[in-house]
Amino acid sequence: MKILVPVKLAIDSNAKARVKSDESGIDLANVKMSINPFCEIAVEEAVRLREAGKATEIVVVTIGSAKAQDALRTALAIGADRGILVQTDETVEPLAVAKILTKVVEAEQPGLVILGKQAIDDDCNQTGQMLGALLGWPQATFASKLDLSADAAEVTREVDGGHQTLRLTLPAVVTTDLRLNEPRYPSLPNIMKAKKKPIETKAPADYGVDVTPRLRLLKVSEPPARAAGIKVKTAAELVGKLKAAGDL
Ligand code: AMP
Repeated sequence: MKILVPVKLAIDSNAKARVKSDESGIDLANVKMSINPFCEIAVEEAVRLREAGKATEIVVVTIGSAKAQDALRTALAIGADRGILVQTDETVEPLAVAKILTKVVEAEQPGLVILGKQAIDDDCNQTGQMLGALLGWPQATFASKLDLSADAAEVTREVDGGHQTLRLTLPAVVTTDLRLNEPRYPSLPNIMKAKKKPIETKAPADYGVDVTPRLRLLKVSEPPARAAGIKVKTAAELVGKLKAAGDL
């Protein structure tokens, strides 16, 4: 079975995001970018399935600028077999990403698509759900365990108060939660090997998808700075301060 894993390059989770002075977005100049952590988990899961003999090929795809290739190279170093870069300098919203992925699925015919549950840049948490809907495939979001057989996937999800287990008929769409696995660090030889793995470059127009944004971003602003705390000597003083602040 072939597995398709869409991956996104996002601001590194340890980098400090700076808001542009005109509040039009996040300044990405000279900021460390990395594969989105949930996408890394998706790639790791696909590689584990191949290592367990349950998958034969892992194709990774990204939609973004030429720089987005870095996410593909990381995925190839973890163990994916080949990559597809759908290159565009536009900001591509989840609906357009899902439409392009639908076409990639039609061309590649995977038995399973594993996406991250969300990209940590915009925290949209939409693409997997939209892809499942556009394809008309079963979907299980926020997977913390995935068991695959020839024609079905059993997915455990952490829900309020317990675990929910779903059985999906393949082909299906699954999105990853944090506890699904702990991705490996790619070894140096695998990083070197990844440089030689094939990446095919396409454009959104090759798939007939218009990526013009449908949403208008009004502004991005910093969260308000937290005021300094104060120390109190007694519980009574604390209660008094809370009452004065209207919090009690
Ligand atoms: P989002 O809906 O934007 O939070 O993203 C959820 C998941 O969809 C990500 O973890 C990726 O697996 C996939 N995805 C989102 N944007 C892209 C993109 N530009 N290229 C490839 N995959 C993407």
